[in-house]
Amino acid sequence: MTSVSRLLALPATFLLTIAPPLSLAETAPPAMALQTPEQLPAQTAERTSINSVHVDQPVIAMTFDDGPSAVLTPRLLDILKQRNIKVTFFVLGQLVQEHPEVLQRAVAEGHEIANHSWDHKALNKLTEGGLRHELADTSAEITKATGKPVTMMRPPYGATNPRLNRAIEKEYGMKVILWSVDPLDWKRPGPQVVSQRILKETQPGAIILSHDIHPGTIEAMPATFDALLAKGYKFVTVSELLAMESKQPAPATKATESKSATVRTPPKQS
Ligand SMILES: [Zn+2]
Repeated sequence: MTSVSRLLALPATFLLTIAPPLSLAETAPPAMALQTPEQLPAQTAERTSINSVHVDQPVIAMTFDDGPSAVLTPRLLDILKQRNIKVTFFVLGQLVQEHPEVLQRAVAEGHEIANHSWDHKALNKLTEGGLRHELADTSAEITKATGKPVTMMRPPYGATNPRLNRAIEKEYGMKVILWSVDPLDWKRPGPQVVSQRILKETQPGAIILSHDIHPGTIEAMPATFDALLAKGYKFVTVSELLAMESKQPAPATKATESKSATVRTPPKQS
C-alpha cells in the first residue's frame, strides 16, 4: 500500500466505526451513534423511540422487515410454526396490497403486524403529504387485510429523529420501534454469519432486526431459533415485550454503565 492510499483508507475506517453509512436496507440509525443531545439516556431526555426493553425475564422480540414476500414469508411462517415462536413483521404497504393473504396467515398464526412505510422511503425527507401516505395508507392497508389496528412503526433505515417520532406517535398513533441487535442480513453475508451475529448480540429484552426478503436470512433462522431456545430465551411479540418492561431500575452491575436499558449502545462492528 502506498502512503497515499493508506492515508485515504484510514478516514474511511474511522468513519465506519462512528457512523455507519445509510444503505438500501436497515443499518444502525446513524444519528444514534453520534449521541446528539436529543438521544441522551432516558433520565435526561424524553424517550421517543424504543431499541430494547428492560425486563426481568429472558424474553426477546424477533422482528422481520420489508415483506411480506409471497415465497419467503410463508417459508418463515412454517419454521416459526414448528417451534411455536411468535414474531413481529414490519411490513410495507405496497406489498401488503399485493399479498394480503400472507399477512392474514401471519395474524391467524399469532404474529404481530406493524407499519414499515408504504414503499421504504426515508421518512425524515418527506413533505407532510408524503409522510401521511407512507404512514396512514400503510396502516389502513394492514387493517384492511387483518382487521387489526396498527400501533407500532419502524422508520425505514432507522432514519428518524425525536420530532418525527413524536409526530408518528401523536398524529398517527404508533410507537416508534427500532432495534438493539442488527445482523446486517441485508448484506447477505451467509446464513451462518447471520446466525452467529444474532446469537452473539442477543440479551434479555432485545429487539432483533432481520428481513424476510432474503433467502439467506430464512435459511439462518432454524439454527438461530433453536440456539436461542436452547439458551432459555422465550420469543414474544414487540407489544408483549413492551408490556413486560420491568418497573425496577436496571441492575447496577457497573457504576459507569448507562442506567437505562432502553438506550442502545453504539453498534459493534463485526
Ligand atoms: Zn426496511
